[in-house]
Amino acid sequence: MKYFPKIVFSDFDGTLTEQGKFSPVFFDVLKIIQQNKSELVIVTGRPLSWAHFLLTHFDINCVITEGGGMLSVKKTGTHFFEDIPLIDKKNIANLEESTQLLLSQFEGIQLSEDSACRVTDRAIDLGLLETINQDAEIEAFLESRKINFSRSNVHLNFWSGNISKRKSIEHYLKMKDTKQEDCTFIGDSLNDESAFEFMTNSVGVANIIEVESIMKFRPKEILRGDDKKEIQGVLHYLRSFS
Ligand SMILES: [Mg+2]
Repeated sequence: MKYFPKIVFSDFDGTLTEQGKFSPVFFDVLKIIQQNKSELVIVTGRPLSWAHFLLTHFDINCVITEGGGMLSVKKTGTHFFEDIPLIDKKNIANLEESTQLLLSQFEGIQLSEDSACRVTDRAIDLGLLETINQDAEIEAFLESRKINFSRSNVHLNFWSGNISKRKSIEHYLKMKDTKQEDCTFIGDSLNDESAFEFMTNSVGVANIIEVESIMKFRPKEILRGDDKKEIQGVLHYLRSFS
């Protein structure tokens, strides 16, 4: 893409972090984006509480959390934020009811610690599933309740309804009356694939190499080299426009 993207959509973990942690480089990334009159929209699997943290502490107007289930925007006046669930109430109720049933029907099961602040999805630690050895029964239960699920390296995540990073990006583009071709998406992993498939302009930071061979949808451009991993890759890419 020739011009600086109007909106820089970016994954958080493994993309805007440095060795998995918050980095001072984040401030350099924000500065470049602001200098180019663009905006950063973080699109992450983290719970809604992270949107409130990011919107409160940084000059950011929109954060998408829960893998695309929640879209939060900064407000002025009496409310600091507006949290918009991107699934309907019926799906949120189905998730809550199914979660309660799951916990009562499977002895020893516990939700992940970060499930507490989640609205549109929940997770179970995979380590725990190994000890209770009921994977197949749990998955059959979720299917019977029309609950979608996926496995990350640490969690069995589950949700009700159609949630994806792509869908949440489309929602925000509509809100801003902006074309996806004028924007970009940056990510590093399998849960970014829906955005890589959708966006004309997308970038993978160098650590994407770990999952590249098993990806169905790859970013249009992949950065190479140890110095272009995670947020260092993001910084390199954004600097390439000047
Ligand atoms: Mg990631």
